[in-house]
Amino acid sequence: MLRLPSFTYLQPKALQEALAMKADAGPDGMYVAGGTDLYPNMKRRHQEPRTVISLMGIPELRAVGRSGGPTDGGVTLGACVTLTELSASPPVRQSARAVGEAAGLVSTPLLRNMGTLGGNLCLDTRCNYYNQSYEWRKAIDFCMKKDGHICWVAPSSPRCWAVSSSDVAPVMVALGADYVLVGPGGERVVPAARFYHNDGINYLTKQPDEVLAAVRLPAPDGWDAVYHKLRRRGSFDFPVLGVAAWVKWERGAGSRERGRVVEARIVLGGVASWPQEVPEAGAALVGTDLSDEGVAAAADAAYRPAKPMDNTDFDLSWRKQMTRVYVARALAELGQRRRAAT
Ligand SMILES: Cc1cc2nc3c(=O)[nH]c(=O)nc-3n(C[C@H](O)[C@H](O)[C@H](O)COP(=O)(O)OP(=O)(O)OC[C@H]3O[C@@H](n4cnc5c(N)ncnc54)[C@H](O)[C@@H]3O)c2cc1C
Ligand code: SF4
Repeated sequence: MLRLPSFTYLQPKALQEALAMKADAGPDGMYVAGGTDLYPNMKRRHQEPRTVISLMGIPELRAVGRSGGPTDGGVTLGACVTLTELSASPPVRQSARAVGEAAGLVSTPLLRNMGTLGGNLCLDTRCNYYNQSYEWRKAIDFCMKKDGHICWVAPSSPRCWAVSSSDVAPVMVALGADYVLVGPGGERVVPAARFYHNDGINYLTKQPDEVLAAVRLPAPDGWDAVYHKLRRRGSFDFPVLGVAAWVKWERGAGSRERGRVVEARIVLGGVASWPQEVPEAGAALVGTDLSDEGVAAAADAAYRPAKPMDNTDFDLSWRKQMTRVYVARALAELGQRRRAAT
């Protein structure tokens, strides 16, 4: 049995209190929300904080509400909203159903009851050579991501290729959501796409002391989005491929016209160390009405730069081929929805 190491557990009731506790703990301190990623990682000695600061007792991090100001009409989600709450939230279902659907596809009901939005968006990157017990990793002399020097996936590579495996992050990037970060220097807002690095070790641009406090979803304004997920067991597993597709329809395309796409984003999860946007795929959709030719062109454009590595489940060349299939399926769903609405 894998056991947790001993650590000090703190339960602040306010954000400023959490920041002060983290400052006191220094690099040996970490935040935790649902703990469904951090605690298994601590058992395998991936992360070894001596002080763990729970964010779950901070009321403002658990709120869901309509946004004011520039994102008027959008929804603001507290980072400690659970995935179960997110998937059932009426404002999310009305304004950004792809977010709730992606949250509902994470793992199992038990993990969704504990796991939070913030934890999902800050999820550690994953790799077959890393998500193993300490003894297993020791037997291969560890790897660059923790305790070692070499990458077993690409031994001549200077970087780690561990994979971004969050289901909700690709959707946030596709939607153009904003993340609200609060740290010792105050609050800053970053677009979801700028929150991630394509590096398996330094995969977040967030500073360790910063708390991801909230996520602001854009107002519904003629756009639609979907998320499709490929995994071995539909009831349980991490994505080996996630496809988030977002399209904005031309203004004025009324209920009797099908209209054309004026802007689009395709973002892939599970194929790189960050949610990977493929701008060529989005560009291929502009001016189309999501008919078969437009969909095929975008699926082909998404397939070409997708370079999954041999460090998760399934054969990597098959996973690459599935990119084309899953992008086409996601776009077909958006097209069908549009046709049903007109
Ligand atoms: C068996 C199993 C299957 C899983 N399947 C999936 C899956 O299919 N898809 C998927 O996406 N995930 C999956 N997960 C991972 C995980 O359960 C979810 O991603 C969950 O949403 C993580 O949230 P959490 O609150 O439990 O994170 P935690 O474990 O609490 O935290 C994760 C990381 O984020 C940091 N963090 C958390 N909240 C904040 C915050 N507000 N500000 C700053 N830092 C923060 C923590 O310090 C930690 O580094 C799975 C996990 C397990 C164990
Ligand atoms: S990609 Fe390489 S360095 Fe990164 S976790 Fe896997 S084996 Fe380790």
